Amino acid sequence: MTSLSAKLQAVLAQIAGAARQCGRDPGDVRLVAVSKTWPVACIREVALAGQTSFGESFVQEALDKMDQLRSLALDWHFIGSLQSNKTRLLAENFNWVHSIDRLRIAERLAEQRPASLPPLSVCVQVNVSGEASKGGVSPADVPALAQAVAALPNLRLRGLMAVPARSDAFLEQRRPFRLLRQLFEQLQADGLVLDTLSMGMSHDLDAAIAEGATVVRVGSAIFGERHKA
Ligand SMILES: *Cc1c(COP(=O)(O)O)cnc(C)c1O
Repeated sequence: MTSLSAKLQAVLAQIAGAARQCGRDPGDVRLVAVSKTWPVACIREVALAGQTSFGESFVQEALDKMDQLRSLALDWHFIGSLQSNKTRLLAENFNWVHSIDRLRIAERLAEQRPASLPPLSVCVQVNVSGEASKGGVSPADVPALAQAVAALPNLRLRGLMAVPARSDAFLEQRRPFRLLRQLFEQLQADGLVLDTLSMGMSHDLDAAIAEGATVVRVGSAIFGERHKA
């Protein structure tokens, strides 16, 4: 077993353990392997170990990788911040966009999603910790944005995504995830059909799973620490 494959297996075991710990079915938590900044060779290794979903934050970097990995039939999740001038590339090439934070961007994605492809799966990103530096819509603005996005053609609103402020204490980590889950449940109660709570990264995936995450986005625990620019 290669070391990346061993790290992938360890993360999958951690996810399954965290799910069982709180009485959830491990099969209800999917892993998106966040491969931003890592080269194609690393992604191929993880893909050959069985991982099919990969997350990227930079459009051009992701397109180059997709090009070189066509033969592997992977699904690609955009998790970075969105710019209007990149929406066409996203609409044409990705399976998911997790970081919708304004209607205008969602409208462009809906217009630009090719008819030949299935609807683009999207999540609304929520700024659960109120940090000025973080993307996402404020909790109070979630219902209006979610309803508007859900009404667009060629998109399928799957749920909510968040990147809370970093904390190393388990109970502290759970609080923003709980807020995201409550917002999610409110949308369901309001009639939206949703199946995705995209929350939890390398350092807080146990807390996210305890609060109901259905997708965790894990980079460094699989690929290693990214070099900071
Ligand atoms: C980089 C990134 C991740 C993965 O973070 P790790 O700490 O490396 O697991 C998850 N979600 C988003 C939005 C990211 O930008």
